[in-house]
Amino acid sequence: MTIDPRIAIIGGGPGGLMLARLLHLHGLAPIVFERDAHADERPQGGSLDLHAETGQHAIRAAGLEDAFLAEARPEDQGDRLYDADGTLLFDRDGHGDDRPEIDRSALRRILLESLPEGMVRWASRVEAITSDESGHTVVTAGGTQAFDIVIGADGGWSRLRALLSDVQPRYEGAVFVELGFDRRRHPQVDALVGAGKMFAVGENRVLIGQRNGHDHIRGYAGWRIDEADAWALGAMPREAARAATLAVFEGWSSALRDLIGGGDLLGVRPLYALPIGYRWPSVPGVTLLGDAAHLMSPFAGEGVNLALADAVDLAEALTSGAGWPAVERYEAAMVARATPAAEDAAHGLAAVLSRKGAAPVLDHYRARLSG
Ligand SMILES: Cc1cc2nc3c(=O)[nH]c(=O)nc-3n(C[C@H](O)[C@H](O)[C@H](O)COP(=O)(O)OP(=O)(O)OC[C@H]3O[C@@H](n4cnc5c(N)ncnc54)[C@H](O)[C@@H]3O)c2cc1C
Repeated sequence: MTIDPRIAIIGGGPGGLMLARLLHLHGLAPIVFERDAHADERPQGGSLDLHAETGQHAIRAAGLEDAFLAEARPEDQGDRLYDADGTLLFDRDGHGDDRPEIDRSALRRILLESLPEGMVRWASRVEAITSDESGHTVVTAGGTQAFDIVIGADGGWSRLRALLSDVQPRYEGAVFVELGFDRRRHPQVDALVGAGKMFAVGENRVLIGQRNGHDHIRGYAGWRIDEADAWALGAMPREAARAATLAVFEGWSSALRDLIGGGDLLGVRPLYALPIGYRWPSVPGVTLLGDAAHLMSPFAGEGVNLALADAVDLAEALTSGAGWPAVERYEAAMVARATPAAEDAAHGLAAVLSRKGAAPVLDHYRARLSG
């Protein structure tokens, strides 16, 4: 008789929940430790586009295609580019593209509903993980529990990663201020965004508008700023942070500045990334997936797609019967897949926040059209 391994997944984000779903389909019963008290404790962030070979592939492997299609928005794949004066430089409606959008909260709900009751332990922040010859012990405020395998799906500031190496994310030199709009109350923002996503790019500054489900539009104001100043901005009262953001976009067209002045200011996110190609020495019984393994800035639009693809590959490795060497092969393949995406994210950030303004972004869109 074989005994199923005791598996802990730290983190109930898209990567951790997808892994739980896939292991559940194989008859295993992992436990997901999630620090949030419940699914709606905090806003989950904006819309995500799922790519065919990674995010959509995972959805199919998890048997969740119908639930995904019911929530996905294939009509929201357009791109627009403006300069700082509000001149429209590029506009395509994205009709026929194969990267349907889905709200992050909808994706999380679909994954949660696919799991048996009790598989996710809410309000369970993992404080520490200790290891000895008998296995790995997960420590939360509620107590300790021993496991054979512990997977860090706990995002960019992963606790589990500290067991494997002392590498930490590095500041990317830029901040995003996140804004939210109801499109019915902000028709001018609605008109600006078009059929999906808009970028307005000026010297070292960007405004982004992104159509979400349920008549919501998510906005981001991004610029280059010192790390300490980015955190100081995040510590300001909301209206003071808004005024500071408006000052950065002084001289931009009033229609674009409405993206900062008109919406709800939802948060301030300094951007961090792990070193490109980050790899840790493999430790039997402990591994990582998603942002915990390869946090990158959002400029490649790959983060969630990689996290979901990692979950598929790791589930295959864990259920292959080939032992830990299969997981080591997963780790090598994951790094090989994430590295070009991380390079794209770094190039994307350099192109969008440059002294040349909109020109490099326009070149990128045109090259994509002709390629
Ligand atoms: C502004 C912005 C826009 C983005 N846009 C896109 C996009 O358009 N497309 C795209 O593909 N990606 C995008 N991303 C990236 C994407 O959000 C991430 O890559 C993705 O969420 C990673 O999933 P994950 O499951 O690895 O980690 P996360 O989503 O970070 O989930 C980690 C989970 O672990 C939990 N957790 C953390 N620590 C602990 C602990 N100690 N104990 C218990 N639980 C813990 C957290 O509460 C969380 O639920 C964007 C990111 C940002 C910041």
